[in-house]
Amino acid sequence: MYLILLGAPGTGKGTQAKILAQQRGLLHLSTGDMLREAVASGTDLGRRAKSYMDAGALVPDALVIDMLLERIAKPDAAAGFILDGFPRTLAQARALDEALERTGKGVDIALNFVAPDEELVRRLSNRWICRRCGYIANRRLEKCPACGGDLYQREDDRGDTARTRLETQKPLADMVAHYRDGGKLVEIDAMQPVERVTADVLRVIDRVKSA
Ligand code: AMP
Repeated sequence: MYLILLGAPGTGKGTQAKILAQQRGLLHLSTGDMLREAVASGTDLGRRAKSYMDAGALVPDALVIDMLLERIAKPDAAAGFILDGFPRTLAQARALDEALERTGKGVDIALNFVAPDEELVRRLSNRWICRRCGYIANRRLEKCPACGGDLYQREDDRGDTARTRLETQKPLADMVAHYRDGGKLVEIDAMQPVERVTADVLRVIDRVKSA
């Protein structure tokens, strides 16, 4: 299954992607995580992406598309994946379609996570992530409840950068329309508690699978 998760920062894409990956055995690919790894390991891509990420801006399409297409060409992605944070532009959506089409496949569902901006600002400023296992907590805790590791706050979740990301990284209307026109788009109410969002998402996946 080829599943994509759309939504502004803070709508819970990462949290749901992790749960779905576990429950349905799907490969979880987050372009944000891949870019942060590239920055941390000082690769050429990381050096080129860093200034955009620090400013809360989108990394140019050419860089992100190459990175993602290279990743999904690996054997472990052949059985399907959940994309978290990609595509974010129409050009990215088209590049993904073309790459999948070349192997006779296509996106099965595009879930669009929707929540009001005030809620997203609140969530980003309260988001703490486990260094060891990636668990996402919605408040500052002493230790990770999943593995006991240390929690940290992402630099770009703070203050003005978080606001810039919300302003510039909402799913673009033309990209959302692309999936709506293709009959793939399903809106998810991301204001609900995590378990209710998961239940909605699983219902959609099962409906599409059995169709
Ligand atoms: P995220 O973890 O998804 O919030 O992404 C963190 C940062 O990585 C974003 O603020 C962007 O600078 C960059 N990024 C992640 N995915 C993409 C993408 N698909 N296109 C452009 N930039 C991206």
